[in-house]
Amino acid sequence: MTRTTPPMVRPRTTVTTREDPPRTTSASRPTDRSARRVELEGLTAYYGDNAAVQGVSLEFRPSEVTAIIGPSGCGKSTLVRCVNRMHEEIPGTRVEGAVKLDGEDIYGPGIDPVAVRAAIGMVFQKPNPFPTMSVFDNVAAGLRLTGKRGRNLNARVEAALRGAGLWDEVKDRLGKPGSALSGGQQQRLCIARAIAVEPEVVLMDEPCSALDPQATLRIEELITELKNRYTIAIVTHNMQQAARVADSTAFMLNGELVEHALTDKIFTNPSDKRTEDYVTGRFG
Ligand code: ADP
Repeated sequence: MTRTTPPMVRPRTTVTTREDPPRTTSASRPTDRSARRVELEGLTAYYGDNAAVQGVSLEFRPSEVTAIIGPSGCGKSTLVRCVNRMHEEIPGTRVEGAVKLDGEDIYGPGIDPVAVRAAIGMVFQKPNPFPTMSVFDNVAAGLRLTGKRGRNLNARVEAALRGAGLWDEVKDRLGKPGSALSGGQQQRLCIARAIAVEPEVVLMDEPCSALDPQATLRIEELITELKNRYTIAIVTHNMQQAARVADSTAFMLNGELVEHALTDKIFTNPSDKRTEDYVTGRFG
């Protein structure tokens, strides 16, 4: 069967103006204006009859980091898995509403979920390099899977490892197993694998929860570097992490979005009492 090439994998366009006023946290920072905007519109996600995400409308702005916080089980992981069409891989699940990438619904007719996942990459909680593959092959695997291998494979792998801040640490052991790296290096290897295919958006689901504080700091620095080129959404249970890396923060509770605002506002002057109770540690 011939797959439709969805619009979201078309070449990046040059955007010369920005529709919205720049946010205070990013106003002084040059941005790559080809990063893409993600809009969730009335997103509802079911496991059988259970709606784990309920009518969420939320925007991930280009070249910014959006944090998603909330107590365990409130639907954060489910929400981000809907954004690259991974939720539907679980039997008995379904999604309602829309997820738009620069205005185009990734759930629209004729859209290939595999192409969606190349455009919208994902980094998981536990570093998951392919255990028997070398460092090099772990990064090359993403390119091979998406048919982007090409003749310049070595250059692409190096660029991805540099982009993930890992090149200097692994350039002399590219043939060693990915699983031989430290936890923090493995997570950066997974980030390299995700960015090797040149996605527009990178979703991160608790990417530091299995890492020590130093490795966590390194990933947070990397997220800050990467946001110039990618639209980033990060699920975190660590509110300090959200405060450190995110331009805006969304607070979820019981499957619903309670509030989405600039990170400073969420932590210092939230609009909703439930947000205040959560960020001040009264529950969760
Ligand atoms: P969070 O990421 O905020 O901890 P999740 O998105 O993992 O929350 O879970 C939201 C809800 O969906 C929970 O009630 C959870 O039990 C349910 N859920 C998550 N994964 C599955 C699954 N594979 N099958 C059925 N229910 C699930």
